[in-house]
Amino acid sequence: MIFVGPHVSIAGSVSLAPDRARAVGATGFAIFTKNQRVWKAPALKEEDAAAFRERLAADGFVPAAVLPHAGYLINPATPDEALWEKSLGLFIDEARRTAMLGLQMINIHPGAYKEGAREDGIARAATMVDRVLEEVPSISVAIENTAGAGTILGSSFEELDALLSASKHQERVGFTLDTAHLCGAGYDVAADPFGILDSFVSRFGRGKLLGMHLNDSMVPLGSRKDRHAPLGRGCIGREAFRSIVCHPAADSIPLILETPDESAWPEEAAYLLSAR
Ligand SMILES: [Zn+2]
Ligand SMILES: [Zn+2]
Repeated sequence: MIFVGPHVSIAGSVSLAPDRARAVGATGFAIFTKNQRVWKAPALKEEDAAAFRERLAADGFVPAAVLPHAGYLINPATPDEALWEKSLGLFIDEARRTAMLGLQMINIHPGAYKEGAREDGIARAATMVDRVLEEVPSISVAIENTAGAGTILGSSFEELDALLSASKHQERVGFTLDTAHLCGAGYDVAADPFGILDSFVSRFGRGKLLGMHLNDSMVPLGSRKDRHAPLGRGCIGREAFRSIVCHPAADSIPLILETPDESAWPEEAAYLLSAR
């Protein structure tokens, strides 16, 4: 079983998201838990959370097929103490929303350490993840790999490993691999998609892959940049994505399209689903 689908909008109400995903033929999807551009959003009402859970089940999705994405304002690695505290507050809020929606995990970018030692940034990011896990016991955190621009952490399996190792709650920490970010970071997804997943699994074990973001890349291998392209319209190419969804590590985890052309989502989802 594979869970494939786009990152859909929650405009209007989060409870509209399952129907939006179903409309493009998805078997899984991603959402933001709140407007990702603002620090403060109105509290999630239990009636809205209940409506989401109802629509989810009615549309035939299991909770494990949904991967909420924490907002981009959160920087777990920041050396700015005020920003770190503000980030922690928002991350906890989003993790609580995730639990209210009946979902099991939340995706986070490890952040940028800006200045000072890289190791200190890793320690700050791991501490934030731990604090969230302690506040919200029912969820796991999926740390997303990055293309590694500037001081952004998490662009290599070694650094993902360092983030995991720095956590006190490793059994509830795993990863999301974004193919466009892998490509930006120098992993040749076009040439050896299956081998990259094999090396992830041999390092971390299959259970540590909590989700994937399946995006083609507008920018070339090793560019350190993050520019998503529709599947087959970037430097990764369509075939690699078929290969990825056929890897055993892709079983029963959310495989999310964050591709920029919404009109292509039904075809992209059908293409991936037809591979299995
Ligand atoms: Zn992301
Ligand atoms: Zn990206």
